[in-house]
Amino acid sequence: MDRLSRIRNIIRWQELYQQKKILVAAYESSEIKLNKLQEEFDNSQSQHTKLTELFDNLSAKVVQEEERLDHILTQIDSMEKDRDNLKMSRQIKSWEKDMDKYTKDREVVEAQFYYDKSKVGDISQELETLSENMSRFKEEIDTLQKEISEIKAETKDDRDAVESEMTKIAKEFDIHFVEYLDRLLDRNQGVVMAEIEDDSCSGCNVLLPTSYHGGEAVHDADDLALMQCPNCFRYLYNAEDL
Ligand SMILES: [Zn+2]
Repeated sequence: MDRLSRIRNIIRWQELYQQKKILVAAYESSEIKLNKLQEEFDNSQSQHTKLTELFDNLSAKVVQEEERLDHILTQIDSMEKDRDNLKMSRQIKSWEKDMDKYTKDREVVEAQFYYDKSKVGDISQELETLSENMSRFKEEIDTLQKEISEIKAETKDDRDAVESEMTKIAKEFDIHFVEYLDRLLDRNQGVVMAEIEDDSCSGCNVLLPTSYHGGEAVHDADDLALMQCPNCFRYLYNAEDL
């Protein structure tokens, strides 16, 4: 490929790169939003899973505590019925000792039971909020996905055309050069070609060394090397050359 063809190909590549940017921009922000929502949905889901496990364990514990409490209350109840039948002081003493133990047990188990029960209630509330959030996220995700695939379907032909022309041009160049060109395009807001105007780079206005605008090398048809601006690295060309 001669120097002129290279320059023409780079200019075309730049145009295609810009077209591609515009085509991608139509759904890019939606895609970023979609990824964020998906992340939030996943976080909520893993939190939901963890909380559900906690809820199940604590609920089982509450059931056990309630059974224990029922048992203690039944015990206290039947002891109270026995109280009047007791005559001997030894029996009464033993009764009082047992009653004291059951009363203390009741206090402890009751406190734990109500504490855990309220925690189960809190968790259930949290799970409900998480579920609400998740279905809201899901709804937004579905809407965005639909929107993105519609845009993609609408622009498919254009994107394919750009891609196939880019593939064709890329074959003309060394693969490393194409990679470099794309990095340069990213760095220079999609413009890597700059006309030499008044001995300066029209891209960044830096005054170019004499060899760039007046030297033999510039107008030598056999010169295959492309010149780059020493400041912004854009490829330089003379308008009249094209
Ligand atoms: Zn420059």
